Amino acid sequence: AHVARLIAAGEVVSRPLDVVRELVENALDAGATRLEIDLDGGGLTLIRVRDNGAGIPAGAAALAPVRHATSKLAPDVQAVDHVTTLGFRGEALWAAAQAGDLHLVTRPAAQVGATEVHAQGETVTVRRASAPAGTTVTVRHLFAALPARRRTQAPAPTEVREVTALVSRYVLHHPELHWRLVVDGEARLTHAPADHRGAVASVYGSLNANRVLPVDAPGVTGVVSRPELTRARRDRMHLSVNGRPILAPPELEKAVIDAYAELLPAGAAPLCVLNLTVNPEDHNPNVHPAKQVVALADLPALTG
Ligand code: ADP
Ligand code: MG
Repeated sequence: AHVARLIAAGEVVSRPLDVVRELVENALDAGATRLEIDLDGGGLTLIRVRDNGAGIPAGAAALAPVRHATSKLAPDVQAVDHVTTLGFRGEALWAAAQAGDLHLVTRPAAQVGATEVHAQGETVTVRRASAPAGTTVTVRHLFAALPARRRTQAPAPTEVREVTALVSRYVLHHPELHWRLVVDGEARLTHAPADHRGAVASVYGSLNANRVLPVDAPGVTGVVSRPELTRARRDRMHLSVNGRPILAPPELEKAVIDAYAELLPAGAAPLCVLNLTVNPEDHNPNVHPAKQVVALADLPALTG
């Protein structure tokens, strides 16, 4: 049962990037306006996400790392079709505690003291603590108990690059929040609340920020580079659905590129950040375990 549990956890969390994504999504679900992410040793030494969100009430904190414990779903299976939060499976903290050493300190603003939870495997200990409002989750020694998994990890610089790209996507899609990514003690990316153009400045520099125009159509908001300045960088197309960054379905990427067709050199793509708003019922985040690929029943029109 122990081995089965480790394997199941390894499917939710297969690399540090997965932990960062899950912790950031929890902070966003908690309504945080300030998120600070720390990564040491490519995430195998330490991953920490600090937020100023709603926190977890003292009576519920011990449950957070328990498998399938989620505060986000009504106990009615139908609800999975109507999720508006990024998380809903109740597996991320559980998996992080199986694969590493999970520590969280949390306090709702209206509660006097904070709660500290330490979870490793199935062992969960809870203590009172003091802390600012919000939640700090720290995962240390990821995959220490899974040597095979640890051996197959990408080198730290690769993971750092991917985590930076992931956090960059969140900054681009949530420019209204404070963001800070610190890698091995050095600030890698910082962003203070701004509009989408400001986020492009934080991620790609002010030169690129000066080259984007706002998009504000029904169901689509964001920015897109002015066609005459567009370069062949497909990795600069950033799409999200209801606030969740996605790997765009090819038909969606194609729709954006087609909108530029006459203005683009062959193979080129615009720098763009587009957030699509779709009815949660038309959008199924269950398709891919990392929830990055979505199935869209009904794409909003990109023009109009
Ligand atoms: P899920 O997000 O699918 O519900 P998780 O394992 O990621 O599952 O988290 C379990 C529960 O812990 C969440 O439902 C939520 O109640 C609580 N939680 C986790 N992280 C935070 C956070 N940063 N702020 C507030 N609550 C949190
Ligand atoms: Mg979650």
